[in-house]
Amino acid sequence: MKRPAQLSKADNELIAAATAAIKLRYRDDWQEVGAALRTRSGRVFTGVNLDAYLGRMAVCAEAVALGRALVDLGDDGIEMIVAVRHPPPGDKDQTIAVVSPCGACRELIFDYDRKARVIVPNGRAPTVVPIAELLPNKYSRGPER
Ligand SMILES: [Zn+2]
Repeated sequence: MKRPAQLSKADNELIAAATAAIKLRYRDDWQEVGAALRTRSGRVFTGVNLDAYLGRMAVCAEAVALGRALVDLGDDGIEMIVAVRHPPPGDKDQTIAVVSPCGACRELIFDYDRKARVIVPNGRAPTVVPIAELLPNKYSRGPER
């Protein structure tokens, strides 16, 4: 196994931005995940998940952050992205921790920047992996490009 990549100061700031977003907007059963991404031009955008009474309408925090970035900058790519989960109020451990992107978000991140990197959990200290590593044999509608 490869040696995990050390997080830079900017990566830790990205985790802090995602954490601040969900701390501010947490609502039990509605908003539990925060995300932050850094575009190729260095701007940071945050999002929180949009849970919904109709489950299939739910939207992940990563998608909300990407949507905000697209509205402001157009398609500027994703240099780095991270999501964090706020525990429910009853949990003894109230640590807001880095979580891996779900399968759908892996597809989304790859579609918007195939060279994006993702901060993922790795035991005690999160680490950085390329999105392509999280999505082997990505879905394709046609022949491989
Ligand atoms: Zn997701």
